[in-house]
Amino acid sequence: MRAAQRMNAVFVRVALDHPLPTLFDYRYELAPVPAPGLLVRVPFGRRDVVGLICEVTSQSDVPADKLRAVAAICDSCAPLSDEWRALAAFAAEYYQRGLGEVALPALPQALRDPSRWARLFAPEERYRLLPAGRAALPDALPARASALRRLADALAAQPALAAAEARALHPKASATLDEWRSLGWVALETGPETPDLAQPPALTDDALLPHLTPEQQQAVDSITAARDFAPFLLHGVTGSGKTEVYLHALAGLLNARPDAQALVLVPEINLTPQFEAAFRTRFAALPENAIVTMHSGLAEGERVRNWLAAHTGRARIVLGTRLAILASLPKLALIVVDEEHDPAYKQQEGLRYSARDLAIYRAKQLAIPVVLGSATPSLESWWQADQGRYTRLTLSRRAVADAVLPSVKLIDLEEERRRGRASIEGLSGPLVTALKARLERSEQSLVFLNRRGYAPILSCDACGWVAGCPRCSAYVVLHKPERTLRCHHCGWESRIPKSCPDCGNVDIAPMGRGTQRVEETLASAVPGARVLRIDADSTRRKGSAQALFSDVHAGEVDILVGTQMIAKGHDFQRVTLVGVLNADTALFSHDFRASERLFAQLMQVSGRAGRSGLPGEVMIQTRYPRHALYHALARHDYVGFANSTLAERRDAQLPPFVYQALLRAEGRTLEAALAFLQQAAAALAPLPGADRVTVYDAVPLTVVKVFNVHRAQLLLECASRAALQTALRAWQPALRSLKGVLRWAVEVDPLDI
Ligand code: ADP
Ligand code: ZN
Ligand code: ZN
Repeated sequence: MRAAQRMNAVFVRVALDHPLPTLFDYRYELAPVPAPGLLVRVPFGRRDVVGLICEVTSQSDVPADKLRAVAAICDSCAPLSDEWRALAAFAAEYYQRGLGEVALPALPQALRDPSRWARLFAPEERYRLLPAGRAALPDALPARASALRRLADALAAQPALAAAEARALHPKASATLDEWRSLGWVALETGPETPDLAQPPALTDDALLPHLTPEQQQAVDSITAARDFAPFLLHGVTGSGKTEVYLHALAGLLNARPDAQALVLVPEINLTPQFEAAFRTRFAALPENAIVTMHSGLAEGERVRNWLAAHTGRARIVLGTRLAILASLPKLALIVVDEEHDPAYKQQEGLRYSARDLAIYRAKQLAIPVVLGSATPSLESWWQADQGRYTRLTLSRRAVADAVLPSVKLIDLEEERRRGRASIEGLSGPLVTALKARLERSEQSLVFLNRRGYAPILSCDACGWVAGCPRCSAYVVLHKPERTLRCHHCGWESRIPKSCPDCGNVDIAPMGRGTQRVEETLASAVPGARVLRIDADSTRRKGSAQALFSDVHAGEVDILVGTQMIAKGHDFQRVTLVGVLNADTALFSHDFRASERLFAQLMQVSGRAGRSGLPGEVMIQTRYPRHALYHALARHDYVGFANSTLAERRDAQLPPFVYQALLRAEGRTLEAALAFLQQAAAALAPLPGADRVTVYDAVPLTVVKVFNVHRAQLLLECASRAALQTALRAWQPALRSLKGVLRWAVEVDPLDI
């Protein structure tokens, strides 16, 4: 009897959101059949938590009296596929985390809350208007029954109306619907709506699509012809119509396979509306819920609904920011990563993954094409293409007839000063003149400055006092409209002092300038211009960025001033002038990627000019007009810049020619953080793989103290990715046993060093 019981015993191995890289065993005694990929509620310590079943077995190495039982299982949600779990496992392995730390946070919050499972998967109810009802309604309604009429109209407008939605239309809607059912006018249906997978008519009518340029056509043909893992680097100058290439590739796929799914990644939430609108217009034949978005700005309900649409295969196109790379997409057949060079694809906390790199992995795993698009590809991707690992597709000219790349002019600030030419608060004479000329012609201008706030420094001339953050080793930024001093590192805020807190001098003055100050200057320097500022401060409220960008598109703005938020991807039709302020600081950064980033940013922002056929002009104010980076920019010479920068990286043995990882530590004191890193370095030395790894000295971060925590890092470098991985993996137990810091984290392929 006992033997028989043991034979029938079932155990599950479960991944939990916990730093230990192990699975946790539980007894399984519930009625539904367990399967890998299903979610369970299990006791853990004194709490219940949600976990993911990774294995179902008939035995466990854990002693029977130590094993606890699964409390609940969510079997109405289809299991997460083997491929999805393998993706999570790869990300966990590569980025040095536990499987559960990757898999569970990748799920929408609602799924991780067992109390909501029943409601999430409650059978959906829908009302359907029957032919008898269609004939009788709305004539049967009293003339003044407008609420009932709305209900009838809603039923008539779609094949099936969600019951919750219908009942919410009118307080008596339920009773009315019951009555209509008894009359045989409507039917109540339950159960999930079955997706209609019959081959639909073609989604798009080729005759109505814009005529592709030969380069676009070639790119589309290459992508649609791909059958296996095929990474493409779509290098297209700004305005070359990369979006159109994506749209055609999507159409080719969706028309050919009625169940295929595509994933399109964009670097920023603000770019999703533009793409979503393009997809909805182009693929109007798709049902509404076949195109879904995924980003951190979604309300929770929407997030889980969209996630489930992807997971069940109902969603055909998923458009999202980096987190969407971990969506469950059982029929994924194409991945597009737009603006692939953008640092925003790298998550900077928790699981520090690169969505672009995971996209490559995922495409390889599923043997499908992946398209990385950019006007300024990352040097990593460019190097892959150089070696023939990625297929390069080139769009060398702008798509709109007559649109050419803008002319780039460097304004030498030293020379302006020497010649005694007037400038207004940092805006040079030539730039102001050009701005005025645009205003006269009713064209738009864009002024780019990568610093928000009014002034980065508030200081006292008399005693040298500078306003600093009490919690960070950083100055606080003056925000004039908000009348505050703000720390951009920890969020600390205070009122602007009326006099110097050290010496009482009332003449404390802002130094340097941010977007708010430039906005103020522009209003007086270009009289009559409608100036709009777009940066993280002016777009704090949900939806406000969208509203501001619409104003620009609607022509209600003459001069748009902003940070990198305005530089990316937007297709502004009427911008003919781009002014760049204060770019020089990045030329001399200690970060070896700073010039690559600056070049990309300036090329992106320059690319906003002259997109519709009117000639565009870019003016860069600089003290270093002879700098090679600016010269390459003026020639629109990404290829030259990329090749020379890669040559420098090869000489200096920097990525992509070596692989890097960082160990970051945060301590109560800098000494604690540094001591931890030194011990960590000593622990690494004897481990497998470590003999091939160069370990640099532990150093404080540039802004060493943030929120009263001191930060330092240790850089590791290795010519072999595999050896670095081996060493990092072997290092984990030692790191976990070290004490003395508040937090530590390993970052693989760091972007900021
Ligand atoms: P990119 O993303 O490469 O900077 P976009 O995809 O935003 O460029 O396209 C730039 C502009 O060119 C858009 O207004 C788009 O509608 C237009 N466009 C794209 N392809 C074509 C084409 N084949 N013919 C005419 N206009 C096109
Ligand atoms: Zn003072
Ligand atoms: Zn601070």
